[in-house]
Amino acid sequence: MIKFNELNKWYGAHHVLQNINLEVAKGEVVVVCGPSGSGKSTLIRCVNGLEKFQSGTLIVDGLSVANEANLRQLRMELGFVFQQFNLYPHKTALENVTLAPIHVRKLPRKEAISRGREILEKVGLGDKFDAYPQQLSGGQQQRVAIARSLCMQPKVMLFDEPTSALDPEMINEVLDVMVSLAKDGMTMIVVTHEMGFARKVADRVVFIDKGVIVEVAEPEAFFTAPKNERTREFLGKIL
Ligand code: ADP
Ligand code: MG
Repeated sequence: MIKFNELNKWYGAHHVLQNINLEVAKGEVVVVCGPSGSGKSTLIRCVNGLEKFQSGTLIVDGLSVANEANLRQLRMELGFVFQQFNLYPHKTALENVTLAPIHVRKLPRKEAISRGREILEKVGLGDKFDAYPQQLSGGQQQRVAIARSLCMQPKVMLFDEPTSALDPEMINEVLDVMVSLAKDGMTMIVVTHEMGFARKVADRVVFIDKGVIVEVAEPEAFFTAPKNERTREFLGKIL
């Protein structure tokens, strides 16, 4: 579904992604972790063309991301959830999740609303259709943001530290939604330091440091027998 091949990116003289090779199969869940500033966000933002890269290739669902002409279609196939939820403050939860399906996908309003209700129910917000973002907790807002992406029926979901801005007691309600999405077979790349989540649902864990993929392993091996010294050091700090 996603294939990075020898991808390189620089910010000026800073070589921020170095010879990235990574494949994510349909239905696979890949967790990306690594120190702050290691290039995790840049990596994930390349997937939907939010960041340009200078060499190598990146193919998503058969489409080259480097080709500008593909970006519109690609972005329709990709859901992106950020640390900050960025909901429309003057729209209700239901309006937030139906806006893009109606205006971008041109879905009939009635259909968009029934899909929106169904997906909000699925993320545990069946009683919050008419609530405005400011009336919702951070965890609820992030679940609306996930629902908003899902309403566009993406083929892949990208998450960039989706729980980092949340109070600790709200982290699990968001992770639970992501776990159920993974179980439903969604293809996902998740940048997170929630190692409990990684252990539970990741097919593979990627450790990136200073723009280099240092280690890729199944969670069991990654956590119990990391091969690389830098991985061990990182895990020592966060576990
Ligand atoms: P992470 O998400 O792992 O914390 P980022 O991908 O955000 O790391 O950033 C990787 C590196 O690239 C950092 O050193 C950061 O300062 C740098 N960087 C990120 N965005 C830009 C930018 N727009 N211009 C210049 N440097 C940037
Ligand atoms: Mg980041």
